[in-house]
Amino acid sequence: MARKNGIVAVLLLLLLSACAPTVAPPSPPTDETVDTSAQPVAPAPKPPEGDDVQPPEPPAQPTPVRPKDEQEFVRVRDYIPDIVVDLRYATADNFTGTVIYSYDDAWLRYDTVEKLIDVQEQLKAEGYRLCIWDAFRSAASQQKLWEVCPDGNYVANPANGYSGHTRGDTVDVTLVTLEGGAVEMPSGFDDFSALADRDYADVSAQAAENARLLERVMEDCGFTGYDKEWWHYSDNDRAQPAPEFEPEMGSSDDP
Ligand SMILES: [Zn+2]
Repeated sequence: MARKNGIVAVLLLLLLSACAPTVAPPSPPTDETVDTSAQPVAPAPKPPEGDDVQPPEPPAQPTPVRPKDEQEFVRVRDYIPDIVVDLRYATADNFTGTVIYSYDDAWLRYDTVEKLIDVQEQLKAEGYRLCIWDAFRSAASQQKLWEVCPDGNYVANPANGYSGHTRGDTVDVTLVTLEGGAVEMPSGFDDFSALADRDYADVSAQAAENARLLERVMEDCGFTGYDKEWWHYSDNDRAQPAPEFEPEMGSSDDP
């Protein structure tokens, strides 16, 4: 019996050895053998969630290009975006009751606008902003204005040459608050009474103070005021006439 068991044990050993693997397991691939093209692509990083989400950066505002020529006509709001433009001659809301020109934005020579940039900065430090009532007038609109009001005290006669407004170096301005609210001044625009002159003895102390503030800042920045109109200022550096220039319409950012 013992001999028979021994034979069975030998047979079992032989059987087990026959079933044992005879091939060595594959070794891990080396760097030289890795086919990188077959590697799984790493997933794209997920955007942060919750409080970590950052809003996309707003597109940068285009910076107005400085003209090559200081005498070039430019749209004032392209260089002073927070200036208020209320062109009275672009509507019937003026002393003539008629529309004098068809363009709807203020245009001036670039070097005059540079000075207004300084004016605006100084006024903002005092709690005010500039409001433009009139700027460049084309030769045709100056002629129309003269025909409606042929008074040399208030409108330049085109037959005598080019006025400051038709040169594009003269501007009619008033003050508004930083929020755009009205500020007491000696008179309304194109008031042809004595209130409009630069003798402020006949207006309120507040109106006189505000007009003097405007006058001081405008003069500091290179403008001279007109005696009969507290709102009218000309650049001390006079521009040459440009009878052919007509402002282009549209592209105003404001409604
Ligand atoms: Zn004027």
